[in-house]
Amino acid sequence: MARQGSWRGELLGGFAVVAICTLLGGLFQQAVLGFALANVGILLYWSWHLRMVQRWLDRPLEDPPTGRGVWGHLLDSIFRLQRQNREAQSRLESALDYLQDSLASMRDGGIIVNNRGGIAWANASADYLLGIRFPEDRGQSLLNLVRMPEFQSYYESEDFTHPLRVTNVSEDERSLQFEITRFGAGDRLVFVRDITDTVRLEQMRRDFVGDVSHELRTPLTVLKGYIDTLTDLEVFSARQYSKPLEQMQQQAARMENLLRDLLWLSKIETFESHRKTERVNIGSVLSEMVGELRAAYPERTVALKIEGDTTIIGDEPELRSAFSNLIVNALKYSDKEVAVVWHAGADVSEFSVVDQGSGIAAKHIPRLTERFYRVDKSRSQNSGGTGLGLAIVKHVAAAHQAELVIESELGRGSRFGIRFYSARKGRP
Ligand code: ADP
Repeated sequence: MARQGSWRGELLGGFAVVAICTLLGGLFQQAVLGFALANVGILLYWSWHLRMVQRWLDRPLEDPPTGRGVWGHLLDSIFRLQRQNREAQSRLESALDYLQDSLASMRDGGIIVNNRGGIAWANASADYLLGIRFPEDRGQSLLNLVRMPEFQSYYESEDFTHPLRVTNVSEDERSLQFEITRFGAGDRLVFVRDITDTVRLEQMRRDFVGDVSHELRTPLTVLKGYIDTLTDLEVFSARQYSKPLEQMQQQAARMENLLRDLLWLSKIETFESHRKTERVNIGSVLSEMVGELRAAYPERTVALKIEGDTTIIGDEPELRSAFSNLIVNALKYSDKEVAVVWHAGADVSEFSVVDQGSGIAAKHIPRLTERFYRVDKSRSQNSGGTGLGLAIVKHVAAAHQAELVIESELGRGSRFGIRFYSARKGRP
């Protein structure tokens, strides 16, 4: 049995009409006429329904007309689909309204940029932070309105893995942080946040550490001077004095190193965002440094391998301190050969130090660059380190847009590398 309203039912009905009309025509010797009239009738019937569907589709908001058979079924199905579509659309519109309302009320600036770089939407905070007014600026190029060189190169770099910080933006020295997310067909959502307070706090912390370290240096120099004088005096040569004096000397030297590293770290952090423009010949820096270390550690083997172009754009004292921290660590935490390698490739150049020491368990690796983080506290302190070496290396790398790479295997050794990208290559 064909289902009512199905196309089979419609076809069978059509056949039945044609057969009946042909038979009726046959009764009057006019079978062909009956057949033709039946076909014309069916054609008119379908054309009328098609016209009905088309007229209704032109005014889809009206209720569907009532059709017979498959036409009624078809009209009902289209009507149902239309209703579902309208419901989904209104759900989507209210979700969008909700999203826009929440973005509009955010303290952070939010801007939607279309795939041609034009502003499609912006909230009120975008006006306060960047002077972008919506809807007045709709369709304007974002880069024409935000004229900060750092933002322009960030936007054009297409690399949005890390947010961008721009400090001292305006006369009131505001600092902003930008984050960009791609969505849809090349559209972008730009978030901008006022981080002036955070930047000021960070600056205060840096200044405080720098100032305290600086202030402590003078009293420490005086104390050291007296300890040295007392050590040289004949009266204090007896063992009960010489031992404590020796310890005082050691601790004073430790404190001196600590203050030196703290001051250096605060200086690197302060100037981290400044452009490093010197041409540094890594080859001669490393040859000289390895020569000095071989003299300081005569019992150790330090191999040096230099491959490819050796010039990069950077800051020589900062690079020296980072390289020497990594080589000295390799010497401190291993007792076999240490290999120092410079390899310059087409896009990436890498400085690395490989040792065959005790290695570091994976769980410690992400925390190694924290200030004063030590894997084995007693061993590291005995080795004379300040606990600031890798923090210094990390900041030097960041200041050169380079990456600190740490690979290590317990019991087999470690490889510490600083990876520089092509922008730092020293070729004109
Ligand atoms: P420290 O002055 O203690 O050496 P660093 O910041 O230079 O401070 O290093 C942090 C910690 O990382 C060290 O205390 C040590 O535990 C570990 N470390 C650094 N380099 C190596 C290495 N080559 N092999 C094993 N452990 C290392």
